[in-house]
Amino acid sequence: MHHIRVTVIGAGLAGLSAASYLRRNNVEVTIIDKNPRIGGMLSTESIKGFFLDRGFHPVLDNFPELNRIINVRSLHLREFAKGFSFIDSEFSHDDFSIPQRGDSFSQYLKILKMLPFDKTTGLARRTTKTLLGSARDGLNANFTTTKELLEQLVVRESKLHGFFRALNSALLLDPECATPPAESIATASLFVRGQLCIPDTGIAELPSQIASSIPLENFRLDSEVVSVSDSHITLATRETIEHDYTIVTVAPLDLPALNFPFPEIRYLGYSTHYFATESAITTGAMIQVPIFDHSKIISTVVLDEVSALYAPRGVHLISVTTKSEHDAKAVLGEAASIFGIQQKDLDHINSYQLNYGVPSFTSRTMRAETYNGQRISNKILLAGDYLLGSSLDLAIKSGRLAAQNILMDAFNRAD
Ligand SMILES: Cc1cc2nc3c(=O)[nH]c(=O)nc-3n(C[C@H](O)[C@H](O)[C@H](O)COP(=O)(O)OP(=O)(O)OC[C@H]3O[C@@H](n4cnc5c(N)ncnc54)[C@H](O)[C@@H]3O)c2cc1C
Repeated sequence: MHHIRVTVIGAGLAGLSAASYLRRNNVEVTIIDKNPRIGGMLSTESIKGFFLDRGFHPVLDNFPELNRIINVRSLHLREFAKGFSFIDSEFSHDDFSIPQRGDSFSQYLKILKMLPFDKTTGLARRTTKTLLGSARDGLNANFTTTKELLEQLVVRESKLHGFFRALNSALLLDPECATPPAESIATASLFVRGQLCIPDTGIAELPSQIASSIPLENFRLDSEVVSVSDSHITLATRETIEHDYTIVTVAPLDLPALNFPFPEIRYLGYSTHYFATESAITTGAMIQVPIFDHSKIISTVVLDEVSALYAPRGVHLISVTTKSEHDAKAVLGEAASIFGIQQKDLDHINSYQLNYGVPSFTSRTMRAETYNGQRISNKILLAGDYLLGSSLDLAIKSGRLAAQNILMDAFNRAD
């Protein structure tokens, strides 16, 4: 194979993943990011002795792409109690535990006990298969959104609805369940079999571990790219960097200046608000999901119950995830009620707003179309979560696919 040079634009998970795979194959790679730090959407800030992730990001320890690219043990993961705590309009908690890893097949079926089997036995059987990862089609063919699937299952008030709603809220940031069922079910399957975790000192550990295989001199941080061509990129400083290929991992809304023919993608904005309290609170290490209609909160977590290092000793650190239109003040009362304490006992530490954090795919067709647009030209490839789905694992996957495309190309040319 000829010697090839690749520039990767963006040092988020997609860019780091692409660069890491290229490096492993002895490709000369330069990673450029306009920020002074790596990680893109994944970063952690230390304030007043708390670790604050800029956007609460739990990780599943069995994310396939994550396991492919690093040894997940290097992340020092701390585990959530497995399940969800549903909060009703009276603020009472109903804990729904998921069977533990290693439990028998029949224990997974516990989840399905909530189904009205008399009406939906066939569907239930297929759901079981899908949850176990042995069939990924079946259900997906007929429904555009997870909501439609749930309505079809006639489980509106049941815990199974709660399960998917909680999963779509907490992991896919989609309380309306607009995600295609394929994506929800794939995540549900990973969730049931794996373990939800956070790195003990913050989510920034994840990009750091991926980047640790790439020499420092391969990074150009604090460098904004303003145009891209088949042969080179140009930085805001007018400096040019030549390449044989480039992988662009910049989110579409950041790209208009580069004149790329991007498909229109609807973005959903989210905020994570952090509160601290020294008061005794009434929950454990499960994700709490309000399931009543007028709730402004998508989910809450007591982070120090999961990793003690997230907060100074004797203080609880609570993360509250909402849609971006709700500020900390608007959710203070509801958050206090969830934890059974007074509003005055919750100190607001900081909030992070990601206005276009999560791409929303309304149908599988949309995803297929965007995915086909992965190449802009023979020399310019795309990667990024928006091509496959809004998950850090899919961001890593998109980087690997772009790197593999280049390696195949170069290999074929060498023939
Ligand atoms: C609030 C929130 C919570 C989430 N929670 C979860 C979760 O619990 N589990 C999960 O799996 N996923 C979660 N996600 C999704 C996950 O964070 C993303 O899928 C993933 O981080 C996207 O990585 P990326 O590399 O595609 O994009 P990004 O991280 O956005 O990387 C793009 C990079 O390009 C750089 N860039 C942009 N423009 C330029 C330019 N002109 N020149 C140079 N560089 C440029 C940016 O600085 C950035 O570093 C969440 C997302 C959000 C917003």
